[in-house]
Amino acid sequence: MSALLNITEPNNNTNSNDSDFLASLTTDAAQATTGKYSREQIAQLFDLPLMDLLLQAQTIHRQNFNANEVQISTLLSIKTGNCPEDCGYCSQSGHHRDKTKLVAEKRIEVDKVIAAAKRAKTTGSSRFCMGAAWKHPSAKDMPYVVELVKEVKALGLETCMTLGMLDTDQAAQLADAGLDYYNHNLDTSRSYYEQVVSTRSYDERLDTITNVRNSGINVCSGNIVGMGESRDDRIDWVHELLKMPKAPESIPVNLLVPIQGTPIGDKVLAEGQLPVLEWIRTIAVTRICCPSSYVRLSAGRESLSDAEQALAFMAGANSFFYGDKLLTTGNASQSGDDRLMRELGLTKQFAAPRAPKQVPVMDAMSGHQSQVTLASLG
Ligand code: SF4
Repeated sequence: MSALLNITEPNNNTNSNDSDFLASLTTDAAQATTGKYSREQIAQLFDLPLMDLLLQAQTIHRQNFNANEVQISTLLSIKTGNCPEDCGYCSQSGHHRDKTKLVAEKRIEVDKVIAAAKRAKTTGSSRFCMGAAWKHPSAKDMPYVVELVKEVKALGLETCMTLGMLDTDQAAQLADAGLDYYNHNLDTSRSYYEQVVSTRSYDERLDTITNVRNSGINVCSGNIVGMGESRDDRIDWVHELLKMPKAPESIPVNLLVPIQGTPIGDKVLAEGQLPVLEWIRTIAVTRICCPSSYVRLSAGRESLSDAEQALAFMAGANSFFYGDKLLTTGNASQSGDDRLMRELGLTKQFAAPRAPKQVPVMDAMSGHQSQVTLASLG
């Protein structure tokens, strides 16, 4: 892997502090690969002139990925609303339902989920993500979600789930079924977190992420910017990712969609939204600090112009959600996405689902069928 582009040479307009910092980045190729930056360095990245930051992010992006390829997922809500958690931005929280008036829905039948997954595959998604508004799956939910993982994988799609907290046994069951990714966002910094959620602690979130990581499932964990947090909080969130033994393989960087009737949505609608360029900066810093992770554009995209979305890809984003709806909020239209991809020259990445740990084998002599773990097959 080559060292970072040296952008300090002909640049007489970058101030000397920025030049020193950029020079330090260019001389430490190992750091560029592992992405282990200190909190102070993350703050320096946020402070860079935007064009310098974008160039560094795009350079690192090209060292780790095909720059013109994007991974596309489709997200389906398999159980909507009446969530016992009180996330201040979320229309699905039962705590805000008097104001949001969201109509709750019970678990969707398996065949309806499979039909939606088939449609997602036909339209070019490589990953099918299933979300349920639960504090955690119950014992009676587990066979349902395990069946969904197996059925969706049988279509040749990667699978992702976001079901709330998972204990070690639940993570192991999903890993055995072959789940590829589990999403559990940190949402924000540890210090701003108490302004966002009170029913689930930051450490409980980290515990679930650890359980997912230890089970062998890929980790998807991101944030929501624009909830009234400061830049320091965004820096702390990136730093939190780097404190993990391994950065998440997938990192959604959401731009808050303020929903009327939610405490944070109402506050942001009254006080004004975060400038889009600060979201772009967050994407770029995430790309630099987590060089081999997929950085995902999720909520907030439908309100952005083509140019703003192009800038997000320039900043190192390489994954997004397809479809007109993200759980309960709107998303950019699929035909609009296809047009934008054509105009930007972006292509879709193919699915590469991981094999389930358990596979069926047949005894050649007796014809008896049984399940064995892949590890036991060597
Ligand atoms: S974000 Fe998830 S956990 Fe929080 S209220 Fe919404 S559905 Fe529940």
